[in-house]
Amino acid sequence: MVVRTRMAPSPTGEYHIGHLRTLLYNFALARQNSGQFIIRIEDTDQKRFVPGATEKILQVIKDYGLSWDEGPDIGGPYAPYIQTQRLPLYQKYIQELLDRSHAYYCFCSEERLTKMRATQTALHQIPKYDRLCLKLTPQEVKEKLAAGTPHVVRLRVPDNEVITFTDAVRGEIKINTNEIDDQVLIKSDGIPTYHFAAAVDDHLMNITHVLRGDEWITSTPKAILIYRYLGWEVPTYAHLTIFLDPSGQGKMSKRRGSVSARSFLEAGYLPEAMLNFLMLLGWNPGTEQEIFSLDDFIKQFSLTHLHKKQPVFDVTKLDYLNGVYIRRKTDEELAKLLAPFVPKISLDKLIKIVPLIKERLTKLSEATALLTFVTEEVRPSVEDLTNNGKIDKSIAINMLSQSTKVVNETDVTKTDELKNKLMELIKSQEWKTGDFFMVFRVAVTGSRITPPIVESLAFLEPATIIDRLQKAQDLL
Ligand code: GLU
Repeated sequence: MVVRTRMAPSPTGEYHIGHLRTLLYNFALARQNSGQFIIRIEDTDQKRFVPGATEKILQVIKDYGLSWDEGPDIGGPYAPYIQTQRLPLYQKYIQELLDRSHAYYCFCSEERLTKMRATQTALHQIPKYDRLCLKLTPQEVKEKLAAGTPHVVRLRVPDNEVITFTDAVRGEIKINTNEIDDQVLIKSDGIPTYHFAAAVDDHLMNITHVLRGDEWITSTPKAILIYRYLGWEVPTYAHLTIFLDPSGQGKMSKRRGSVSARSFLEAGYLPEAMLNFLMLLGWNPGTEQEIFSLDDFIKQFSLTHLHKKQPVFDVTKLDYLNGVYIRRKTDEELAKLLAPFVPKISLDKLIKIVPLIKERLTKLSEATALLTFVTEEVRPSVEDLTNNGKIDKSIAINMLSQSTKVVNETDVTKTDELKNKLMELIKSQEWKTGDFFMVFRVAVTGSRITPPIVESLAFLEPATIIDRLQKAQDLL
């Protein structure tokens, strides 16, 4: 058997980070088995369709360093890979189901259905279609169709039968068909629902393993019925856990910050760190290993080690992993990655600055704040200059004027010499070393948090440093 997996994004907006995790697992399973990984676009919900979303989704998947073997952009033996371009196929199979009475036309108005559901809910019943249209004679159906009466096509779910399937995450699952609604398979606009289109396509595209989000688990018995009625083989299903918000309050959602796959790249997470983090959000290797390259993951991934328990999206862990991957970069690689976050600093200069900040970066975006003093005017505050009043103003002024002399006399690129001279000065004046460097740092950079300050001077013009030391004195 050739393993074929798929990811089936709906072009309804930004690609969620949870989708990327699911995609990664599908990708790994296919690669591990020298199979194929497919991208299929599920655009059957026309009301939620967002123009341009497909292109953005494909791009962000590429930006994370992942690829596919068949898809809407590259085609493949089962093209087209966009569901609205496959409508005649669904038509063919719905006709088969209709002919065999496993599906039926329903002409009920939205109004009637809404009322029906309200009554059922009030009576504490499971809201389900009451099968009024199942009572129509073939002649009545024919007439309604001929008259162009709006209609949907529903699955005829059998009564009181237990459907059993083995989910790779949760094990054996049993659902009584009495709990299942006669699912709409074709909507009134002639377009299939997710349940029908996904089932048909998974079969036609020879998908062997369906790894998808937990929220689709209730769709599985419907797919199993469709497969049975069409005489098809059911793929293996694995319903993956959703992510919990780090706040401990429910699932991770937009309301509590950005959850799009793109936003994490924009915030300065490295794709490989992000993927490593996602690998462990729903799967574990069964060992203590924590750092995984994509190749390691492909080798080790297994359906038997998928988590049942919903994982917390632990940002502290993500930051830690990102730091690990940042420090693995060469100075040049890192400088290139940082360049978009500090566009005013030339790449050559950035390569030299990188060693000063590499150790302390957890996200690439932090470079912006850390390095603004290199290119921008600085605006120190009196509170920072005096460490909230703990350093006497007159002492601070003296520190700044004395250090100006040292800077004037020394080549600022000679860091060791500069450091020695400043230490001598501190000693001779009996200042506290910490106080001196706080005042000096804030004056030169406008900030309390900076790369090592003496080393940083090499990236400023001496005149700029002296000017800043003077302005800080004026401010005090
Ligand atoms: N189109 C569905 C979604 O975006 C895919 C679910 C599935 O993988 O079957 O969530």
